Amino acid sequence: MSKSILEAKILQDEAAAYAWVEARIWPEGPVCPHCGGVERISKMGGKSTRIGAYKCYQCRQKFTVKIGTVFEDSHVPMRLWLQAMFLLCSSKKGISSNQLHRTLGVTLKTAWFMSHRIREAMRVVGVEPMGGEGGIIEADETFIGRLEGVPKQKSGSAHKNVALTLLERGGAARSFHVESTRRADVEGVMRANISKESRLMTDEGRHYRAIGREFASHESVNHGAGEYVRTPTPLRAITRSSSAA
Ligand SMILES: [Zn+2]
Repeated sequence: MSKSILEAKILQDEAAAYAWVEARIWPEGPVCPHCGGVERISKMGGKSTRIGAYKCYQCRQKFTVKIGTVFEDSHVPMRLWLQAMFLLCSSKKGISSNQLHRTLGVTLKTAWFMSHRIREAMRVVGVEPMGGEGGIIEADETFIGRLEGVPKQKSGSAHKNVALTLLERGGAARSFHVESTRRADVEGVMRANISKESRLMTDEGRHYRAIGREFASHESVNHGAGEYVRTPTPLRAITRSSSAA
């Protein structure tokens, strides 16, 4: 890490550091983390006011961009957070809490806390396979953005975007944009994301037949026969209803 990067304005100037983070978390302008409001939010001014403080006049509460982020509940200046992030990201071998403590001039305890939070935030989510022994994974595809004037077709996706959704019963869901529902397009996603010990549930689509044999079991339901009805329910609602079942 060259010294010059650490001298960049957003890493040295607290207001610039806040502005940089706010632009990323609130690309459309500040959002109140208490009530979700976006209107009637004022930046608080005055010498005694902390940098980055806002007040929402809908719920009358104060907030900063730190709420709901890795910076929450921390009194570490934003510019030091950004310095720590730059250091951790730019070092191939990573940086120990001890190095962070010496470089940033924060206590060892603070350095440990910061590196823990930052590593947690940088952890790549979604790489662990879903399911496992006894786990049930439902795979289903959704067609998005049917072209206007094109009659609804039973199959065929050449003119649509296809999202392949993997849903763990009682657990998380992952959606992927796939080129089509051809085997070549869905199998790789399923192999990479579903543990082989899982039980697979799909519709009767031909593209699931071969891959289905790679899992502990494969059951298919027939949409057409009304075994279950697929509705455009938000994923959270699907998760709830399937865990209740
Ligand atoms: Zn509010």
